Amino acid sequence: MAWYYYINGGNQGPVELAELQRLQERSVISLDTPVWTDGMADWAPFHTTAAAPATTGPTQTCAECGKLFPESEMLQYENSWVCATCKPIFFQRIKEGVAPKGTFVYATIGRRFIAFIADWFALVIITVIPVILIGGSSALLGRRSGLPIYASIAIIAIQWGIPAFYEIFFVGKFGATPGKMLMKIKIVTAEGDRVSYARATGRYFARILSGLILYIGFLMAFWDPEKRALHDRICNTRVVVADA
Ligand SMILES: [Zn+2]
Repeated sequence: MAWYYYINGGNQGPVELAELQRLQERSVISLDTPVWTDGMADWAPFHTTAAAPATTGPTQTCAECGKLFPESEMLQYENSWVCATCKPIFFQRIKEGVAPKGTFVYATIGRRFIAFIADWFALVIITVIPVILIGGSSALLGRRSGLPIYASIAIIAIQWGIPAFYEIFFVGKFGATPGKMLMKIKIVTAEGDRVSYARATGRYFARILSGLILYIGFLMAFWDPEKRALHDRICNTRVVVADA
């Protein structure tokens, strides 16, 4: 009987039943792969058909490709299961020190909080000094009633611009602010990759939102299984331990 299977965005086949089963053993197709043969009303996942191995036993989702496989054909590494095809990529990632998908070590709220305070402290120092200098020099120039308009604009620009630049520059360039670096934590995408400047910018503004709602956006990290604050949810980022 001729079987067809659907992988990489296209129909493959026809193949004989034995070949189809061999493809699954070699992880070319997974138990989730849609298959079809004459007599079937529609395409169906391989594991729901009579062609699937009788003794499937427990199945797991591959941490790399996200497909379903029988445990017996997979390899377990810490909390992750990996299929035969993905095994080389998976261990390559580990060798390179990149946390494999699904095995993030999320930064604790305590570490994030200390990083937050450290960044806040750094920003107070960076922004207060120029503000004092501007205010002081205006006073020295003999202005008695309030600051001249250019000095006020400069102060507002410093108070808003420096924190934005600080957050976006460090997160976009290094994946972490100095406070986060100090605490050895970093911001990554859901795939574990570095965040772009665009995402860092989005996250900066989302973070303001987290703070505006009485810091509830920050507190959300407490009850999120992936320790995501509101701004992490909006920007699909995770805060993880840098050397994990
Ligand atoms: Zn896989």
